[in-house]
Amino acid sequence: MFNGILIEKDEAGYRASYQSLSEEILPAGDVTVAVQWSSLNYKDGLALTGASPVVRRFPLIPGIDFAGTVLESQHPDWHPGDKVVLNGWGVGETHSGGLAERARVRGDWLVALPERFQPRDAMAIGTAGYTAMLCVMALEKHGITPGDGDILVTGANGGVGSVAITLLAKLGYRVVAATGRLNEADYLTSLGAAEVIDRAELATPGRPLANACATTRYGGAVAACGLAGGMDFPSTVMPFILRGVTLYGIDSVMAPRPLRQQAWARLAEDLDLTRLHLLTREVPLSQVVTLGNAFLAGQVRGRILVNVQG
Ligand code: NDP
Repeated sequence: MFNGILIEKDEAGYRASYQSLSEEILPAGDVTVAVQWSSLNYKDGLALTGASPVVRRFPLIPGIDFAGTVLESQHPDWHPGDKVVLNGWGVGETHSGGLAERARVRGDWLVALPERFQPRDAMAIGTAGYTAMLCVMALEKHGITPGDGDILVTGANGGVGSVAITLLAKLGYRVVAATGRLNEADYLTSLGAAEVIDRAELATPGRPLANACATTRYGGAVAACGLAGGMDFPSTVMPFILRGVTLYGIDSVMAPRPLRQQAWARLAEDLDLTRLHLLTREVPLSQVVTLGNAFLAGQVRGRILVNVQG
């Protein structure tokens, strides 16, 4: 038996609870992992509350990411004792995930924990931080360098936003953080933001992405990964046809393994761990269920790290 969160949906309704679970609940997979740390991301908030149909198989252990140690493996790349990280691939949505002391997954989904990190560091970064790195890499691939001008980070106080600010500042970019919570300006500055602006300056309400495109310089680029402000994208073609702006879509869930390995290697190289710990709050697994609503209310600051053994 092991402890975990279980999402169930039946005549009694949709519910998430902390339970003692048996091995039979784990899905098929060629690697079994002792999960040490997981984290909460926006999508976990949707899964825990049922606010959006993220979970599509029941019963299911939520948690779109985890870090831990391989217990058993039939996969040629992994052996007992290996330290691994997992993000996405439908884990926590259609395949049981990281919010439990055990996970069973496909070995092809795993990435080796970079040597510089402990499993705890990897989940302080989590899917939000790895996605922030994918965004930074897309901008770099576009050819953007620190001398090209300011970089705008929207949703600045959230997990993706906080890690993006930290990474970009360390890489030498001048970061402008856009937020709906100006009272957190000191926090954003401590992460490396050079300037903090009110989200309302950028947007007619709920439209920060469209306005980010509208304010992007000639030949510049926008890396878009989120929907906290809503799914609509009411823009015009003008930024694209008059200033040659490029919009990059960022997907972390099905990103190919080499890109993930590159992103984790870059995080190990470029992330300031002292600042990472400034933006992280730790909670025990037993308290996770109550935290889902905070994401929907836009109240999460930085990253929520889950101590799965705690
Ligand atoms: P968080 O909840 O931690 O952060 C979201 C932030 O967005 C909030 O902290 C808030 O920041 C801002 N925000 C909240 N409501 C609104 C609103 N109505 N309009 C504009 N901004 C708002 O989530 P994560 O950082 O974990 O994820 C951020 C987004 O990225 C989510 O939409 C998530 O689904 C998406 N995502 C996508 C991935 C992908 O693969 N494409 C992977 C990971 C995340 P502030 O108060 O500073 O304005």
